[in-house]
Amino acid sequence: MSNRKSQDTGSEIIDRIDSHTRTVFTGGATRQPVRCSHCRTRSRRYRFCERRQRALLVVDKCWVRQVTTFLAHWQCMKCSRIFTDYPDFAVPYRRYAGPTILRLCQRYMTDKDMSYTEAVKYNHMAIAYKGNGSEIDERQLSAGTLRNWVENFSDLFPRSRRRRS
Ligand SMILES: [Zn+2]
Repeated sequence: MSNRKSQDTGSEIIDRIDSHTRTVFTGGATRQPVRCSHCRTRSRRYRFCERRQRALLVVDKCWVRQVTTFLAHWQCMKCSRIFTDYPDFAVPYRRYAGPTILRLCQRYMTDKDMSYTEAVKYNHMAIAYKGNGSEIDERQLSAGTLRNWVENFSDLFPRSRRRRS
């Protein structure tokens, strides 16, 4: 997960995911991944296997939006194992997009007066899941989710900015 795009807004993240999705469907999946995630080899000799659907959650202002994309799976010619090529906005085993996780963690980490509860609000309003169409979704982004991210991704932040919770 890269720190580079941490200031992305929700709509910019969604644009990047949509752009990736279009690329995967117009032959872009033949772009070789940088390295095998199993044996770490950088041989660039990988065989394209398939695209798999993946839903990602992006915080856009006061909403959690679900965006569907596809991740390419490759077989490594050195160790023969199959691995997923993660674009920089997708994090293994995380439902939320990487830039969303970074942006909210930084909001909490860079303001010593910021609480977990306040950091998961937008203009003091809860950030709620936006369903497709008119159904009402009661779920909200929780302070516990943010605490989990901060604890798991603390190595991404400069030591001077770390703080006790
Ligand atoms: Zn390998």
